[in-house]
Amino acid sequence: MDDFDRAAEFEELRRQLALGFRKPAGPPATGHCVFCGEAVAQGVRWCNRDCREDWEREARARKEATCRS
Ligand SMILES: [Zn+2]
Repeated sequence: MDDFDRAAEFEELRRQLALGFRKPAGPPATGHCVFCGEAVAQGVRWCNRDCREDWEREARARKEATCRS
């Protein structure tokens, strides 16, 4: 593994951590995407941005439903 590979790997890890930890609210990381159940790295809650955005949209809808009732 050369420095470029290491840098790319670190960047990927950093990106995944940012994806998982940027929003403290929500479910804990379980090793699986909280939206679709896909296996993800430890500490990561969504397998990709689409899942996170869909999950957030649903969470927002659930919250609004709760507020209205
Ligand atoms: Zn997913």
